[in-house]
Amino acid sequence: MSLSPTPLTPLLYSYLLSNSVREPSLFKELRDESSQDKHSDMQISPDQGQFLSFLIRLIGAKKCIEIGVYMGYSSLWIATSIPNDGKLIACDINAEWSKTALRYWERAGVAPKVTLQLQPASQMLNGLLCDESNHNSFDFAFIDADKIGYESYYEDCLKLIRPNGGLLVFDNTLWFGNPARPEIQDESTEAIRKFNTKLHHDPRIDLAMLSIGDGLTLARKKDTDISPKKR
Ligand code: SAH
Ligand code: CA
Repeated sequence: MSLSPTPLTPLLYSYLLSNSVREPSLFKELRDESSQDKHSDMQISPDQGQFLSFLIRLIGAKKCIEIGVYMGYSSLWIATSIPNDGKLIACDINAEWSKTALRYWERAGVAPKVTLQLQPASQMLNGLLCDESNHNSFDFAFIDADKIGYESYYEDCLKLIRPNGGLLVFDNTLWFGNPARPEIQDESTEAIRKFNTKLHHDPRIDLAMLSIGDGLTLARKKDTDISPKKR
């Protein structure tokens, strides 16, 4: 066993993609469309999308949350991986980008499963938390919005996710490699750094941090019920 991972050179990454990813042509069409936009590097990669789909099917997720929709690429993977009676609550603050997402959800036939919440994630999560029946009820949450909000989205989603296997997934936790470089101290890097440390020491979850894409952190909620009322 080696402590040095196999470096993911462009050549090897291209090999990995062409030998594993089964991306529907509609999803590729969306990526082509979003690539015209300068923010498209916020979007997950096809291998990440397929991995989210794999996880969702593995845990049999039905009720899902997505924070940070952009043009809908990751939500396409999520919404097509849940059963027909599944639900995805998808939250973003950008109405313009969401229009593209809505168009692709329609085309993929998943629009009836997806509810778009156009409001800041903290508001959306507070709204869900106000209704006690939402606590411990979701199976899966994908968080990919502003990095400064990750810590509070984590706390809120942890209350909403079911114990004993509910899964929280966070994108960009390696943040271009910046957290490992102490001289980089901008607000988002500091937020990701603090967030990564917090999860590392949090006994409420099982943890995996993967160097897929720009870093993907998986937090599986353990079987202790952490809702404040039941403490
Ligand atoms: N998950 C998408 C990419 C999301 S990009 C994909 O992989 O396809 C990040 C998104 O977060 C942007 O669309 C941005 O508008 C949204 N965002 C930023 N701050 C937010 C906030 N406070 N609440 C909700 N969404 C937010
Ligand atoms: Ca992202």
